[in-house]
Amino acid sequence: MINIAIDGPAGAGKSTIAKRVSKELGYIYVDTGAMYRAMALYLLREGTPEDDMEAVSRTCLGADISLRYENGEQAVLLNGENVNGLIRTPEVSQMASKCSVNGDVRARLVELQQKLGREQNVVMDGRDIGTVVLPDAQVKIYLTADPRVRAERRYKEMLAKGEEADLDMIEKEIIERDHRDMTREISPLKKADDAVEVDTSHMNIEQVTETILGIIAERRGAQA
Ligand code: C5P
Repeated sequence: MINIAIDGPAGAGKSTIAKRVSKELGYIYVDTGAMYRAMALYLLREGTPEDDMEAVSRTCLGADISLRYENGEQAVLLNGENVNGLIRTPEVSQMASKCSVNGDVRARLVELQQKLGREQNVVMDGRDIGTVVLPDAQVKIYLTADPRVRAERRYKEMLAKGEEADLDMIEKEIIERDHRDMTREISPLKKADDAVEVDTSHMNIEQVTETILGIIAERRGAQA
């Protein structure tokens, strides 16, 4: 199976790019952040205190998270319910980052992610894909951008959806989440030694997609 790992901080463009690249290659796109978000939604619904790690470990056992593909789009199922429309709020983002420091939460989700990578050609995005989930991925990309640029992208996305947004607040939340993701003990966000870093601060979506497809072709050519 061919595995392509895309890691990087919040708002670097991972999901947009991973979706395009997977479509281009005919691979399955696996958004692992959505799995942590579904878990976070479950914990919030259960009223689990975010700082009580024992409660998080215990409660997460009740969440059965799986993926389904409909017309090439990933749907995340939480105990059978499609929760795609409920997991993009700032509250869920922060809870996802907080509960993802928990080893029991990670173990459950990593197992599912590794199974997908064994069974299918995948483009998988997240924080620990190149380092922990798919260490043998044929191609690893580390996508970054300035925090302000990343915040502006999220801001525009929210306005486009008709939501209210505060740019400074979004930037603050992104920096806070990155800090937690990069400094946690288990599987922190970091560039794998064999990943290619791409800074997208001054690139548009087409340019990033072309760059990544070029890196994949080059790496795959070298491996053939
Ligand atoms: O990528 P996204 O912003 O949807 O991820 C939400 C949160 O889930 C991240 O801030 C991170 O804490 C966590 N996550 C993770 N490992 C992954 C993917 C996401 O810890 N592979």
